[in-house]
Amino acid sequence: MLSFGDAGFYGSMGATHLNAPIVGMAATPSGNGYWLVAADGGIFTFGDAPFEGAGSGGGLAAPVTGMVGTPDGKGYWMVEGASLSGKVVTLDPGHNGGNASAPTVVDQAVWNGTGYESCDTSGTETGTGYPEYAFNLAVGLDVAADLRAEGATVVLTRTTNTGVGPCVPIRAAIGNNAHSAAAVSIHADGGPPQGRGFVVLEPVADGINNAVIGPSSLLALDVRNAFAAVTGEPTSTYAGVDGIQPRSDLGGLNLTTVPKVLIECANMRNPTDAALTESPSWQALAARGISAGITAFLSGSS
Ligand code: ZN
Repeated sequence: MLSFGDAGFYGSMGATHLNAPIVGMAATPSGNGYWLVAADGGIFTFGDAPFEGAGSGGGLAAPVTGMVGTPDGKGYWMVEGASLSGKVVTLDPGHNGGNASAPTVVDQAVWNGTGYESCDTSGTETGTGYPEYAFNLAVGLDVAADLRAEGATVVLTRTTNTGVGPCVPIRAAIGNNAHSAAAVSIHADGGPPQGRGFVVLEPVADGINNAVIGPSSLLALDVRNAFAAVTGEPTSTYAGVDGIQPRSDLGGLNLTTVPKVLIECANMRNPTDAALTESPSWQALAARGISAGITAFLSGSS
């Protein structure tokens, strides 16, 4: 909570774990309190703001996007936004915790649509040894919670850090077979230590993915814009242009038949970025950025 001028501070949600992000607020007529409202209709009262009911606990037709109080301060309205109901989103947290100890599986050469690459890789890690696969899953599960709160159906390519793979072509097939409206692979990069920032990788036409090149570019722009706005993370200083990089060498993008991008959220080999990726609060911010980008794409607001 930030207060300015004669606005008093009456409390905030701070580091409280919320089931859905705060999406709006309203002040009481006295100015001595306010309500905060979450996307799931949850109401949080501060100062002299009374609790008059909440939309959480079911019954919402669509996520709440804002609220306003009545003139006497004894009631309020919430507005429901567009729902993602009926939309399928595939989230693909990159790598897996068992990959490093299963080289006979992950090092297998597999067809990626234009050539051969290894089935999967172990991913990178920070200087202190925090692994990329753990970051990817933490963010992925958080994005999934956001999108489910908005009504979407979410498919995950993995839900634990203890398995091996799946191979990249299978990750692509999972998104394709789910007839996803959007698919996003979530990674962090192992780039040059002096470079930092995030980059969104988008597919290049190869025959298989031709029909989804245009929508994937729109998805890339929405994810880039939202991720930058929510996290404040700079676009990559060493990859892509303005946070976007077309890539023709990745099976996950070559084999997709649904709109798909891959985000490298930060550079784990850079000390500044590494500290961010290890921070649960920044992981949550990264998730908010990705889910906001997907929601913008699915809502056609770009
Ligand atoms: Zn990765």
